[in-house]
Amino acid sequence: MQQKALWDDTVVPVCQLCGQPDTREHRMLSCTNMEDIRKQHVEACDILQHQRPEWCFMPLPRLYDDVYMLRAFVKTIKLPKVERPCETGISHLRFFMDGGAIHPAFHVGRLAAWAVIQDLSTSDTARRMCVDYLFLQPPQLPLFRVAAMGMVSGDQTVARGELQALARACEIALLSESMETAEFVTDASYVCAVVRLIESGLFAFCLHHLPNAALILQLHAMWRPDVFCIRKVKSHRRFDETKDLDDLWYIAGNFCADMVVNLVFLTIPSCIRRCAEKAVDFQRKEEARLKCVFKYITQLNRSRCEQLNHSVATGKGHTTKLQLPRHEQ
Ligand SMILES: [Zn+2]
Repeated sequence: MQQKALWDDTVVPVCQLCGQPDTREHRMLSCTNMEDIRKQHVEACDILQHQRPEWCFMPLPRLYDDVYMLRAFVKTIKLPKVERPCETGISHLRFFMDGGAIHPAFHVGRLAAWAVIQDLSTSDTARRMCVDYLFLQPPQLPLFRVAAMGMVSGDQTVARGELQALARACEIALLSESMETAEFVTDASYVCAVVRLIESGLFAFCLHHLPNAALILQLHAMWRPDVFCIRKVKSHRRFDETKDLDDLWYIAGNFCADMVVNLVFLTIPSCIRRCAEKAVDFQRKEEARLKCVFKYITQLNRSRCEQLNHSVATGKGHTTKLQLPRHEQ
């Protein structure tokens, strides 16, 4: 009986199809019985032979070479100092928060930022007077003040950015001397869910399963359910789809926070931005290479099983259930 202990030098297995020494490279790149399949997958064979020889054994994507530069940059990110809010004379504070990322779909190369905007309007009259400014091109936002902004420290995810924005907004609100109530406006359902977990006390039971656990604990220490409330708004609405003044104001606040997040990205050093772009480009190409090789491996395996099943020499054919079963005769 043939064995497939290919890593053991004492075993000399032989390819069941052609009689040559049976190695991974042989099966994938040189078995004469598989020549037809190889002709259909020239690119995959080139990748396995010249670009990613290790994929014959373990098809795992490689990491971008300069990923360490990005990681080193992320390690240097620190949260800015907390600054007091602007005292407007009214006891209800309102903050708009947002988080965002460049290259959000890529683990390596994704860089996240957040922003907190304080609403300085004190009355409907003041808000109404500003409405015309919102419809200028580009929109002007005189009653919104940037209270804090920055890159996300730690894991570069949008969700973490949204949460860091809320934590910072709470810190700012607690520094106010006249604050009696505070409202935090976000477009992230994740942040609202975290606040619900904190208010219900349920987070303690699942904290070890949650990402951003340290940040959630920090938020828990600051969150005052009697004074604070969180409000969810829909993101990226247009100014002209508004129902009334209040609605328009929430759209404007969300727009402002989003705009400031995009300004934060402009502060990233250009060499780091370029590095992130190259990392993303690398991952895209690596994904394409991997898919190409997987397609080839699938077809190769199918063809090999079919040939073994029909082979008179081996008689028994393949029995592994995961592979193509031999038809009952
Ligand atoms: Zn062979």
